[in-house]
Amino acid sequence: MVIHVEKDRCVGAGMCALTAPGVFTQDDDGLSEVLPGRQDGGGDPLVREAARACPVQAISVEEG
Ligand code: SF4
Repeated sequence: MVIHVEKDRCVGAGMCALTAPGVFTQDDDGLSEVLPGRQDGGGDPLVREAARACPVQAISVEEG
């Protein structure tokens, strides 16, 4: 699994960090960031939920 966050699209709603705090955080501007070493999701089942929760579909999850 590879997680991508489109920062251009992110509006800083924070739903991803709230939903999957083990994988997502927010940078100083409030924009979503994947935590270091968690680009593969770390096996966290909440990643998909976080992607769904994003109001602007800024998170994509690539299989493999
Ligand atoms: S939920 Fe979407 S818009 Fe909100 S911080 Fe996360 S990526 Fe950005």
